[in-house]
Amino acid sequence: MVREDCIFCKIANGEIPAAALYEDDDFRVILDAGPASRGHALILPKQHYQDLCELDEAVGAKVLGLAARLGKAMKSGLGCAGFNLVQNNGEAAGQTVKHFHMHIIPRYEGGPEMVAWNPGVVSPEDREQIVEEVTAHM
Ligand code: 5GP
Ligand code: ZN
Repeated sequence: MVREDCIFCKIANGEIPAAALYEDDDFRVILDAGPASRGHALILPKQHYQDLCELDEAVGAKVLGLAARLGKAMKSGLGCAGFNLVQNNGEAAGQTVKHFHMHIIPRYEGGPEMVAWNPGVVSPEDREQIVEEVTAHM
């Protein structure tokens, strides 16, 4: 399904022009309009899925392989030393566009810190509780 009111549906299906790095039957990969680093790209499925929880499994199974191809091409072509994959689900997680997308963010030697967090602490009791709470819903 493609949604008329979704900007990424329009971009993924060529209705709105974008700088594309790759395209096949399932995906279009574009440069992010507000890049975190030079070459920051987004993998967009051509069909509309709100987030990872809605993503079709067969389409989802192709995402990591495509991300690896892009990451390798970025290392060779752009000279980045590594890359981050970032995939936000829900507003609380920072998702601003409600159409599944995977960020591929090239990382350069000496570049700014990003995609980092301060390690917290977890008690043994809470760790056990967390395992119970999640596994009960698997
Ligand atoms: P999110 O925060 O939802 O994970 O990421 C949305 C990303 O989409 C942001 O990095 C933002 O810069 C990018 N973005 C939003 N609108 C457009 C657009 O119209 N064109 C392109 N190329 N990127 C967009
Ligand atoms: Zn969409």
